[in-house]
Amino acid sequence: APVKAAAKTSTSATQTTATVDKAQVKAFKEQVEKHLRTTIGTSPVKASKLAWWQAVVATVNEDIFGRLTDTQQTHAKNDTRAVHYLSAEFLMGRLTINNLTNLEKFDVAREALKEFGLDINEICEEEPDMALGNGGLGRLAACFMDSLATCNYPCVGYGIHYENGLFRQEIRAGKQVERPDSWREYGCPWEACRPESVQNIPLGGYVEKQTAPDGSQCSVWHPSSMIKGVPWDIPVVGYRGSSVAILRLWESRSTEQFNWDVFNAGGYVDAQAEKSLAETISKVLYPNDSTEAGKELRLTQQYFFCACSLRDILRRYKRSHHNDFSEFAAKIAIQLNDTHPTIAIPELMRLLIDEEGLSYDQAWDITSKTFNYTNHTLLPEALEKWPVYIFEKLLPRHLELIYEINFRFLNGPVEAKWPGNNEIKSRLSIIEEGEVRKVRMANLCVITSEHVNGVAKIHSKLVKENLFPDYAQLWPNKFCNVTNGVTPRRWILSCNRGLAELYNDVAGKDWPLDLDKCEVLKKYADKKEYQDRFMKIKHDNKVALAKTIKELTGVEVDPNAMFDVQVKRLHEYKRQHLNLLYIMSLYKSLLEDPDQDIVPQVFIFGAKAAPAYTLAKDIIFAINAVGEKINNDLRIKGKLKVVFLPNYRVSLAEKIIPAADISEQISTAGYEASGTSNMKFSMNGALTLGTMDGANIEIVEQAGIENNFIFGLSVDEVLELKPRYNPWDYYNADHDLKAVVDWLDSDFFTPGQPGALSSIKTSLLNNGDPFLVLADFASYKEAHQRAQKLFKDKAKWARAAMINSATMGIFSSDRSIRDYAENIWTLRSQIVKK
Ligand code: PLP
Repeated sequence: APVKAAAKTSTSATQTTATVDKAQVKAFKEQVEKHLRTTIGTSPVKASKLAWWQAVVATVNEDIFGRLTDTQQTHAKNDTRAVHYLSAEFLMGRLTINNLTNLEKFDVAREALKEFGLDINEICEEEPDMALGNGGLGRLAACFMDSLATCNYPCVGYGIHYENGLFRQEIRAGKQVERPDSWREYGCPWEACRPESVQNIPLGGYVEKQTAPDGSQCSVWHPSSMIKGVPWDIPVVGYRGSSVAILRLWESRSTEQFNWDVFNAGGYVDAQAEKSLAETISKVLYPNDSTEAGKELRLTQQYFFCACSLRDILRRYKRSHHNDFSEFAAKIAIQLNDTHPTIAIPELMRLLIDEEGLSYDQAWDITSKTFNYTNHTLLPEALEKWPVYIFEKLLPRHLELIYEINFRFLNGPVEAKWPGNNEIKSRLSIIEEGEVRKVRMANLCVITSEHVNGVAKIHSKLVKENLFPDYAQLWPNKFCNVTNGVTPRRWILSCNRGLAELYNDVAGKDWPLDLDKCEVLKKYADKKEYQDRFMKIKHDNKVALAKTIKELTGVEVDPNAMFDVQVKRLHEYKRQHLNLLYIMSLYKSLLEDPDQDIVPQVFIFGAKAAPAYTLAKDIIFAINAVGEKINNDLRIKGKLKVVFLPNYRVSLAEKIIPAADISEQISTAGYEASGTSNMKFSMNGALTLGTMDGANIEIVEQAGIENNFIFGLSVDEVLELKPRYNPWDYYNADHDLKAVVDWLDSDFFTPGQPGALSSIKTSLLNNGDPFLVLADFASYKEAHQRAQKLFKDKAKWARAAMINSATMGIFSSDRSIRDYAENIWTLRSQIVKK
């Protein structure tokens, strides 16, 4: 529908008072109107919001593609070393506001659209999220692309052009329902197809042993099919337009439109079947966050994008170095974002040996200097292992190379260090023996990579000491830490304009490039005027979020209440059910004494559960059921509200995070590798209520333990308690805890459906409470009491919130990327010539 001329005044948190250059506004307006007419084929009088958005993107793209060409020419001319970031996930979210911000054109665009009678925030709501990732790991890759571009490092991000991103979550009768996310059904105006860089990828078949003229044996792979990889490029603009990086995503297609001969002979169905099989590879993102689907398709996806990417890398390298591979490792660094792209290792070996004619030793020398591996989890079920029989069927030549790598490793360095020790050999082997033999992808990564890093200090220590202790003995210097980070451009400047203006005033305008500059706000943390300003910004953000909550759930919440937020994937280790038990106990105490003087609180959740993860879905249902009851219980006089925001994703995170008072980061210590939402919340002035886990530890190191609410067992205490843990002891000893756990068994929250929430009680008691929820309950409750007490003291709260925000400099992803560049990639930044 056409957009009405008079746009509503926005209450959005992205408004600023900055004055803008009138000439720039005029030029932007003209460009948008030109694109509306000549690119989109409509006019201002009849354009829909979608058309306006497309015209804005076309305008921005004029800038971006020019800068992209400059960047690529500079890198090609200087033959620079570059990093290639291989990741099965890139959770990019929306790009319009971020790109406008990075080009310093947001205010200009806002004013230009206002002159058309339009609200920029409403227009940008038209953009679907690029949800090509599950959670933290994928969003990290997206933040890293932003920082690589901003810090001018030559790089390419490689991934999969999923036709369907992470499922869209609807909540029906309190339950999660998954719907497909066809994010580019009508095209995505940011991306450019690059037919000149299409790749053909072999798959399946068998390996034939041949004898070379010199008598040596060699292997010849006869694949059974070929798949076409079509690259789509998404430019990533650095802040202030420094350089433009490329995210190249591969789409799978059948090598022929369809098999023409079969089709002509009447085999329409067979011909279509082949086509759809090939296209299935990039059809969907696996919605499993931490456990493996164990499907052939997933390995095929991994192989497909790695094989396309490596051919692309080789093609680019050979353009300036022809067939001389002596400089390959000097020019190319490859970072493996978790084990998902591990198959790139044997694929590079194969390309160098089978297609480029190098010897095994030459290929290994190059490969082992090229790869680095980032570990993201210690959860055993998340460490990928693929059955050998799947390899035999899909990638027989790769399996042969993996065996060779393994043989040389076990009989070389392992035998030298631990002669005759078969126990260690079986632990370190890439192959896990058993009824079903498996390839351990993490072992292949560690053996091959120059560097192996964890993503927060505590996590990296556990990777070295608990996950790979034998490897650490063999190669102590291989293991290092790079603490995660997030881009302050998206996570402060774009999503919290009020706070951004405050930082402009106190820290100057360069803080988005040097987040340490924000520390100056600490000086003002005791000054009432600044406390008031800081809390007014928070309040405005809460008003905007309250409006969103009303729109999405129908629930009215009071912006003066304490906003307590837990948004992240739903997983037992993240312990949303601990939060829920506390809410139930608070509700119970309010029912017992409705007049008690507590701080009004709004508990806000957002979380997707993997579709096959039943308990996670039950917890979503329980949150909604408990929320429904509490929100409609007049006895508690609105002191407590519980909302579950459906379809948590990046664009929703951008509205929620700036409005939080409390950031719930309550994983069982030792289980959250780093977390990244924890950093975003702190930057935006929320206080962390959390365990000493992942990057929480480093957050409180910066912001002070006294300015956050830390509780629960430490990593060492968890390790010590776990073997002798009995949840019944805690249940029987704590009257309040027992009452709320038993409440789950009644039909109080689910009238007419007794037992609808019992699976949670079962997991906590009969299934042993693997994440020690009951053990941490009392301490969690006490931390909440501290939070309530502090919230009543407005000045002290404001001071703590400001100190949190001011001290998050080290969590800029620019710092993470510089750590990688200096310590892992030895990569130098390149100033782009215009
Ligand atoms: N999902 C989305 C949409 C995010 O934006 C983020 C990080 O901000 C995450 C998941 C990761 O959250 P966490 O670090 O809490 O696991």
